[in-house]
Amino acid sequence: MIMKFKYCPICGRELEEKYSWDEGGVPYCSKDDILFFDTPKPCIIVAIINKDKILLLKQSYIYKNSKVLLSGYVTNGETVEETVHREVMEESGLKIKDLKYLGSEYVKNKEIIMLTFMAKYNGGEIKKSSEVEGIEWIKLKNAIYEMDEDEIGKNIVKKVLKEIDNRSVY
Ligand SMILES: [Zn+2]
Repeated sequence: MIMKFKYCPICGRELEEKYSWDEGGVPYCSKDDILFFDTPKPCIIVAIINKDKILLLKQSYIYKNSKVLLSGYVTNGETVEETVHREVMEESGLKIKDLKYLGSEYVKNKEIIMLTFMAKYNGGEIKKSSEVEGIEWIKLKNAIYEMDEDEIGKNIVKKVLKEIDNRSVY
């Protein structure tokens, strides 16, 4: 296996290899008694729906010519659902409800596992954070044309359209 973590981030001693029953050899600090698993970083991405519109953000550092869905990293100590509510509030100032999990996507080369959700708008005015370049409601049926470079985002929008078709209540 690749020893990705060589030194303990807590005490600094060199890690040894310990055999975990289902993982094979894992870097281990015997002083702190911690196994350092090689895990992807969990990240949430959420399609927020308001009647026939969806919330899209402009973030040039992600894609120069495309809009994206709202996303953010899961912080240690919170549930994934809490992450979704927190990130939506921080980046857009909006409240959401009726979270629905739509599956996950692995982002190659970035070691990110993207947990995808849809949610219903539940009040508030758009109040964008300074980290966000632009943010607006876009007609759902036009959304994928604004998301050209964002393959994962477009997949999520397609799933959302299917969900709404199946329910016809959103
Ligand atoms: Zn240690």
